[in-house]
Amino acid sequence: MATGAEQIPVARCQDCGHYFAPPVYSCAACGSGRIIEAHLSGRGKLATYTIIRVPPLGFEGQAPYTVAIIELEEGLKVPARLDNDPVSNDLELFTPAHFVARRDGVYWFQIVTQR
Ligand SMILES: [Zn+2]
Repeated sequence: MATGAEQIPVARCQDCGHYFAPPVYSCAACGSGRIIEAHLSGRGKLATYTIIRVPPLGFEGQAPYTVAIIELEEGLKVPARLDNDPVSNDLELFTPAHFVARRDGVYWFQIVTQR
């Protein structure tokens, strides 16, 4: 199924193959320092989310907004913002989502709406 997802840049340990996002300098699984950039499919599903109504300093103008955890097809879970932010308590868990872009160090995903 083609979703139009962009590939998501992550870090991968060359020795044990673990993926990390955001990137790391050494592997938390085996201690190796041989970390390379890898790209994952960018397709995943909404694992959980919360709505930020009282934001931290610097984000005042963005509230309310949704912060989500997306579980990628490859099994890695990444923190994310939602590009088509519906700010709703009615988001269904396990709804498909795809990676849009990495902006300001944050992974942005779009919920794939069923038609
Ligand atoms: Zn490793």
